[in-house]
Amino acid sequence: MTGDKILLATGPSPNSAHRTETFAICPRRRGFDFHGEQEPGKPWHTPATARGTLLHVALAHHYRRIQATQDGDDPDQWWEPAVAVALLAKQTANPTGTIMQAQVASVLEAYLAYKANYTFEKFRVRAVEQVVEIPVPGTGGPGEPPCKTARIDLIYENKAGKLILVDHKSTGRITKLHPWFYARTGQFLLMRWLGASFGSRFGGVLLNLVQVGQAGPKFERPNLDPVPGFLASYPLYLSWYEPQRIAFEQSDLPPELWPPLPSEHTCMGRYAPGCPHADKCDVAVPASVSPQDINWPSFTLAGGRSEAE
Ligand code: SF4
Repeated sequence: MTGDKILLATGPSPNSAHRTETFAICPRRRGFDFHGEQEPGKPWHTPATARGTLLHVALAHHYRRIQATQDGDDPDQWWEPAVAVALLAKQTANPTGTIMQAQVASVLEAYLAYKANYTFEKFRVRAVEQVVEIPVPGTGGPGEPPCKTARIDLIYENKAGKLILVDHKSTGRITKLHPWFYARTGQFLLMRWLGASFGSRFGGVLLNLVQVGQAGPKFERPNLDPVPGFLASYPLYLSWYEPQRIAFEQSDLPPELWPPLPSEHTCMGRYAPGCPHADKCDVAVPASVSPQDINWPSFTLAGGRSEAE
């Protein structure tokens, strides 16, 4: 609540799929994230993630006010979307607040274009920014609930009475690949898992793509593939990685003692956009290790002579 109006929370849910994914990509990367989460005041936004957060806030207030009107409540209990965006940036402590404030103008430009683009959409809003709990045996690390959680940005009911689960995503440029790769992420598999509990009323998962930034506003709403193979094996994935992630998070080990996974698929290269912790990881030698004391293996070159000093 801010003043006499509500400012909706749109941040990550307390035990999101993303944590397990990061651990599975590289345990040490999750180690840096985990220790960063324990540091109050640490800047945790880049310009891109700030745009995503601010856009979520705009759309959350947009749809919550529509829901209130549809339910016969007062929509003015919630801030106008543009005010909510400005307020969140202003209220967020520095240095993250400064990063967010620099993105307010481009997010508002995209939001106002979005509002105009979808002025005539008609559906019944059933939930906005609802955190759902998905039972998963063995999950729940330090400070987490004993279930995986997902914040569902929007659930609406269409004319046929089907419930559609929607996730908003901001991007600098919409591509054909967005629906392909998002359909195969833990967040969307959890949404589909939740949708399965709706039975015949489940109408699918929709990606609400919003282009924000220099390329100008653009919008697409692809339905995501059901990817049954991924969905069926997701419990297997969780049962393998969750206990390991939780064991490390409970261990108090510093990140340099979490196993790294150095490769061009994880750190940086043709297949990876770059690990945010690469600079720290490069020099993360554990205090207990002296490189000069390590018994390195020796090799004999083709001439038969050992090159070791
Ligand atoms: S730089 Fe590579 S090994 Fe190090 S944390 Fe990042 S992904 Fe893992």
